[in-house]
Amino acid sequence: MIPELLRAQKNYFDTGDTKVVAFRKTALKRLKAELINRENDIIAALDKDFKKPAFESVLTETQVVLSELDLTIKNMMRWAKPKRVLPALLNFPSTDRLYSEPYGAVLIIAPWNYPYQLAMAPLIAAVAAGNTVILKPSELTTHTAALLNAIISTVFKPEHVCVVQGGVDVSTTLLAQKWDYIFFTGSVKVGKIVAKAAAEHLTPVTLELGGKNPCIIDASANIPLTAKRIVWGKFINAGQTCIAPDYVLIQASKKEAFYKAMQIEIEKAYTDTPKASHDFARIINQNNFERLSKMLANEHCIIGGATDAETYYIAPTLIDEPKLDSEVMKDEIFGPILPIISYEGISDLENIINRYAKPLALYVFSTNQTAAKKLITQFSFGGGCINDTVIHFVNHRLPFGGVGNSGIGAYHGQLSFDTFSHKKAVVKKANWLDLPVRYAPYTGKLKTV
Ligand code: NAD
Repeated sequence: MIPELLRAQKNYFDTGDTKVVAFRKTALKRLKAELINRENDIIAALDKDFKKPAFESVLTETQVVLSELDLTIKNMMRWAKPKRVLPALLNFPSTDRLYSEPYGAVLIIAPWNYPYQLAMAPLIAAVAAGNTVILKPSELTTHTAALLNAIISTVFKPEHVCVVQGGVDVSTTLLAQKWDYIFFTGSVKVGKIVAKAAAEHLTPVTLELGGKNPCIIDASANIPLTAKRIVWGKFINAGQTCIAPDYVLIQASKKEAFYKAMQIEIEKAYTDTPKASHDFARIINQNNFERLSKMLANEHCIIGGATDAETYYIAPTLIDEPKLDSEVMKDEIFGPILPIISYEGISDLENIINRYAKPLALYVFSTNQTAAKKLITQFSFGGGCINDTVIHFVNHRLPFGGVGNSGIGAYHGQLSFDTFSHKKAVVKKANWLDLPVRYAPYTGKLKTV
């Protein structure tokens, strides 16, 4: 079925329909109307999948997609237009242009943690750029995946855009096909599988992966505000966010004050019984619940630590001074557990941060501008914030993506459109003048170059 679907999409691409920008724009307007109609269904599906709070679903899923869609509909005509660039003097006289050309058949593989937004945002860009798309949502968020299928099949013909649901087996079959572009969001481990499959056909890829994101708090930081912003960025989506702070490195003199402030902020956000709060999501499934629960064994949970296997609940938890070789410090945590490690000087920071691959995000809390800038430039990471967490994600003028192990490529805003477009460089040479320098015979010409 998958090879036939892909063949139908390739045939459709060859008809040239998707090369017409006005056609793509009309399709995206239809999509927008459907997404607005279905907003409550989307929120309900996310609630069924992992009790995602409605406010978080609007803030981090439906509104993100709608604003990306609005921006794209408004600007895509301009983005798609050939761009004139300054010609090279050596080619005089010429007119040089960059044409944005769709790649063709695009495969998008999405994760479960923001199952709507991380599927729809690349899909919108791929369609805007004139590609056909097969989207494979995560099999762990079944309600959202079924809804995505319903929405897409209402708006698009399957030879243009369609959803293929399933798990690893389906993903493996999809990856065995020859695509013109693959856009993958997920773990580093699967990212490598995708990269290998893509290499077989020399297919270009974007890999949006993860990592262990440090959050540095220096001695000058405003501790109450720091705690408030970390609580929000860490515990939104129950910590299942690729750019959530993974661990905190705090200047030793500030640790006690920080714990007090965190206790206050966690209670403010989720009350003293977060389990009963409607504003705190659940862990996605048993595997992840068990993986995270194991991290708590033998650790000193200075805040939280409670779990409930029946509802996959893990309390907002802070671990005091875990060993660097402990379970919680091995890989990306991806849950509501925050290890806190104190440091004395910059060399401690280097020793810890450089143990890990380049992270997707890094955060610095400091009121000392020079110190903050120094840290931001010293370490390599995908993107991040000074004095906040996660919010760099929302500015469509900033590229969103990793570096090294945390990913290849970036997107958001116009960069999303460009990601799904091959930039074709064309020099239009004028005929009214033909300088003889480059032509053979070359005898005596080196002296003139
Ligand atoms: P995952 O890698 O397990 O799965 C992602 C997708 O790949 C799913 O659709 C899944 O079906 C498919 N898949 C899983 N195993 C596969 C295999 N062996 N072969 C082919 N396909 C396979 O990731 P996940 O658990 O859904 O998501 C969590 C991870 O994603 C975290 O590491 C997180 O940091 C990362 N993430 C990154 C971003 C980003 O924008 N950089 C955003 C969200 C999540």
